[in-house]
Parts: sequence; C-alpha cells; structure tokens
Amino acid sequence: MFRKATTLRVLTCAFYWYRVLEVCVQSNACKRNLQETAEDPEHAKCPICLNVWHDVVTAAPCLHNFCNGCFSEWLKRSQERRASVICPQCRSVVQFVGRNHFLHGIEEDILQSDSSLRRSDEELVLLDSCSTIKSPLVVSRGKNMSHKRARAQSAEGSGRDLSCPQCDREYGGFQCNERTVHLQCQACSGMMPSRSNAPVPQHCLGCDRAFCGAYWHAMGAAGSDVYPVCNQETLKPIAAHSLTRLPFLAHEKNRHEQDITDKCIRQMGRPLQDVISEWIRKMSNREVDRTRLLLNHSETITSQTYVCRDCYDKLVSFLLYWFRITLPKHCLPQEAQQREDCWYGYACRTQHHNEEHARKRNHVCRPSRGARTP
Ligand SMILES: [Zn+2]
Ligand SMILES: [Zn+2]
Ligand SMILES: [Zn+2]
Ligand SMILES: [Zn+2]
Ligand SMILES: [Zn+2]
Ligand SMILES: [Zn+2]
Repeated sequence: MFRKATTLRVLTCAFYWYRVLEVCVQSNACKRNLQETAEDPEHAKCPICLNVWHDVVTAAPCLHNFCNGCFSEWLKRSQERRASVICPQCRSVVQFVGRNHFLHGIEEDILQSDSSLRRSDEELVLLDSCSTIKSPLVVSRGKNMSHKRARAQSAEGSGRDLSCPQCDREYGGFQCNERTVHLQCQACSGMMPSRSNAPVPQHCLGCDRAFCGAYWHAMGAAGSDVYPVCNQETLKPIAAHSLTRLPFLAHEKNRHEQDITDKCIRQMGRPLQDVISEWIRKMSNREVDRTRLLLNHSETITSQTYVCRDCYDKLVSFLLYWFRITLPKHCLPQEAQQREDCWYGYACRTQHHNEEHARKRNHVCRPSRGARTP
C-alpha cells in the first residue's frame, strides 16, 4: 500500500519523513488501508509485542509500524551490537523512524471500541519509559551513500547539508560513527547525533521537536557554511528566555486585550520581563492552575525546563491570562474598567472577526455560557 511513497527516497533528511506520511495518507490506496486497519485490530498490532500499537512509530522506507517503546529498545540493541538497524518485520534497512500521528487516532479508536485490547497501566508506564523516539530520527543515510554524496545531493535538492559537525570531528569528547542515529533541528535543519547521555536536552519539552542550539553550545561547536548550527536561542531553560513585547499569541491574539495588558504593566512601572518572571516563579511554585497550558508535559514544567521560542511564547501567553484575570478591575486603564464580560470569554470566536465586539467586551475571562471553543 505505502510502496508508492518510497519513490520519494532521494531526499535523505527528516523532511522526507513528513512527505512520506503526507503523500501516503492522501493516496486512495492508503485511505483504503487505513479503513481496513480501523476495522480490524489485527492490522494495528506491533510485530514485536503483538499488542495493539502504543504511541505508534513508523519505520521508513518499508513503512512498518511498531510501539514507540518496542522499536526504541530494538534501535538501542542494534546500536549496541553496532549492526545496522533492520526492520524487525521485513528485515530491510531502516533509514528513518518517527511517530505516526495519522495512525495515532486509529490506535485510540480501536482501544476505545474494544477495551479488552487495552494493556494495564503498569505495562504502559514501562513501555513509555523505554520510548525514546520523539521527533523523526535519521537512522542511516542509506546504502553506499557517503557523507560527501549525501551532502552533494542535498545541496542540489534543498541547499541544506545533511551531515553534522560531530560526524567529521570530535567535539566535547564525542564523535559520531556510521551507526549514529541523527536528529534534525527544526530551526536550522542541521543534523545532530541523537544521544541518550547528552549533557543538555536536544528536544523542547513543550512540543517534543528537536532543536540544536543548546546541544552545540554545550559541545563548543560553532556552525559553518558546511554545517548549519543554531545559536543558543532556539532551545534554552524557561528562566533564560526573555521578551520585550507581548507575544503575538497573547489573549487569543485579541489586539485590544493585548493593549490593555501592555498599559497595565506600564502603569505599574515594571518592565514586561519582570512581570513574566514573577509569574514563572508562581507557576514553578505550583500556584497556577495549568489546565489551559497547551504544552506537552505541562505538569512537569519548571523554570529550568528547556523550551523553544514558540513554546515560551505559548507559556507567556498562558501566564498573561493569569496575570490579567487576577488583576483587580481598578488597575485596568479607565476605558477597560466598565466593560462587561463576553459570555464566551476567551473562547469567543466573534472577537476574531468583529472589531467592535472585540473592543467592547472583556475577553480575558472564563466562558460562562456554552462551550464555543474554536
Ligand atoms: Zn509493541
Ligand atoms: Zn519493514
Ligand atoms: Zn553526526
Ligand atoms: Zn517547543
Ligand atoms: Zn539548529
Ligand atoms: Zn465575545
């Protein structure tokens, strides 16, 4: 079914991964197959543990599916044996592996319709503890493809390099070998080795995407024309980020509410970052309800958690909601004090297309009527 998609294999980088999933899900053959899988749990079983997938990952180019935990263990053992990673189902060489969000829904549906297929919580916790695949991994560059050729080919295709600085020389006591699995940075598209013992995180905890900034900084490696490398800004502890303006996302992008928050902070005579830092402290001390914090692992986040810029903006927007909602009305600018709350609160959709409504009603409040969540 998925075979057609493998013609895309010229592109040996993690972007290939997204293309594979995209093209595959759009094809009719694949739609049929997804349908079959949805109807028959036998098509949704991991060939390693023989249960319905849990946090399903797909190996490419063969496109066989496994539990994240099962395949992570397989990957680890293959690397320990210094053997190439072959698919446990068809024995072809695995070049990429990544989570498959298209199949996630099917996994959920099957378990929902037949709870006898569900594993115990203890089993799932154990499986999750072995799961190391967060963002797509480049497992091998494919047969007979030297670094130079990979580089030349990618330069033709995308102008981007596929090698990483540590493939060519040692930095910080580590050098890649031909079996090293690589991650692709989501900011600069450069590659870095995927390491379980890296001294700093290689993924943003908020979105599970890979970013190279913190890693190369810790390794003391600088970028060059050959190797794209981000600066540290792309991934750092929450406490190390800073902002001089409200994030674009603040208050559901309602510009009027953003202006009000801006004015409140200026009236207090405090720099924006000062207010943000205060609320980050409150959050770290568990004084803030995190229900509306739309980041992965939101319960485990502290001021020392490494996050990317996007996730920092999301976090700040979430905290500014709390800043505003706990602010006494008399601290608001004059024109904002008399406004009534919109029934739909922050979830109001009208505020996005009706300028007057967005201005006349307060939207930094909980919905008091019917959930009209976008
Ligand atoms: Zn499994
Ligand atoms: Zn396979
Ligand atoms: Zn490398
Ligand atoms: Zn992030
Ligand atoms: Zn990068
Ligand atoms: Zn409204």
